[in-house]
Formats: sequence, structure tokens, C-alpha cells
Amino acid sequence: MSATPDYVVPLPAVASLPVAGSAARFPVRRIYCVGRNYLDHIRELGNDEKEPPIFFTKPRDAIEQDGATIPYASATENYHFELELAVALQSGGYNIPAETALEHVFGYAVALDMTRRDLQKQLTSRAGPWDVAKAFDHSAPCGTIHPVAQVGHPDAGRIHLTVNGETKQDADLKAMIWDVPHIIAHLSRLFELQAGDIILTGTPAGVGPVQTGDTLVGSIDGLGTLSIHIGAPCA
Ligand code: MN
Repeated sequence: MSATPDYVVPLPAVASLPVAGSAARFPVRRIYCVGRNYLDHIRELGNDEKEPPIFFTKPRDAIEQDGATIPYASATENYHFELELAVALQSGGYNIPAETALEHVFGYAVALDMTRRDLQKQLTSRAGPWDVAKAFDHSAPCGTIHPVAQVGHPDAGRIHLTVNGETKQDADLKAMIWDVPHIIAHLSRLFELQAGDIILTGTPAGVGPVQTGDTLVGSIDGLGTLSIHIGAPCA
């Protein structure tokens, strides 16, 4: 008997991200996302400002590395970028109080929540699930994770995205409606958070479409940059 089980199909790869100052990588368990967490973005999409933020997820194999070329997504004619602060957890649990939530954070990164905006609008109007608008292949590019030991807990700082060198999103992290401790507190009422979980914290205003050939560069103060190229459509 082998100590490790045999599998009838190849074992899926473990998604992971590089860590600044370390040869070891951060293994990705789950990707949670916050919707509607910047007032100016809620207004640009015409959504209700009084509603609490909403959560959705992406599969971990939607992770793409800094510098990647990702295909223009299938089944959309309005493929959008959303630049976001990503929070990487080193531990978790249920019902985490906001007061101690930051103890669970390993580090932070620059991430993109790529979105099929046309499908999202159709689904929202039908009160349907967002999976095909948000949780599709290649939809979660994420940069290098910067450990708390190096960068602290950024609750302010410029979050900035260019497409082909032109500024499209330019805001400050302090404009988030729900800050990181309260996001963790809310999410941990719904799911048992664990080491390896990543939380995308929502996007500011300025979201818009990309085209094949575009280069996106996102940056957040202290967390470096994330560069993504949009390739030809999925075959
Ligand atoms: Mn988003």
C-alpha cells in the first residue's frame, strides 16, 4: 500500500502566489470577493448605496501570475477590469471579531477581479447567481504577496490602474466602506476562514472594458504592481 492515495485522473495543481522576500510561496485555498465596497463605484453602476457589501467567490485555479497574458474571456462583449486590494490569510475560524481580525492576515497584494460585465448585468436583473460573470477561467490575476511583517496593514494609500499607460482607476484605500477587519468579521460568519484564503476587497470607480492587445498595470502604495496582458480570445 502506498502512503499517498492514487487518483483516477491527474491531481489538480495547487494554485500559489510568490511572497516578497521569500523563496516559499503562498498556497491559495479559496478566493472570496467583496462587491460594492467603494461608494463611487456603487454610484457608477447605479446600485443601491444603502445595501451592505455582498460576497461572491472565484475558483482558486482562476489565479493568474504577475506578467501573464490572459485570453480575452469567452461569452462576453464587455470584459472589464476591477483593481482591488487582496488580503491573504494565515489562519482563520468562524465568527472572528473585527477587533482581532488582523491577527489572521499574512499579507497583502494587488489583484484584479476580471468581470464579464454584460453577463453580470443580465444576471443581476434576473436575481441570478454571478458565477459565470465572475468565477470564470483566468479571472483572478494576483501579484506578489507582501507580508505584514514588511508592510503592516495598509488602510490608506493610492490604488491606481492604467490601461496602455492611461489612468483608468485612481483612488485611496481609505474610501472602502467596509475595512479589512470588518470584511473578515462579516465573512467569517458565513464561512470558516482558513490559512490560504484570499479576499478581494472591492474596486473603486473607473471600471471599464479591455480589448485584445491591452496591457493593464495595477498598483497599490507599498504593494508593488501587477501587470496583465490581454491576449486573443479563448479558442
Ligand atoms: Mn470586484
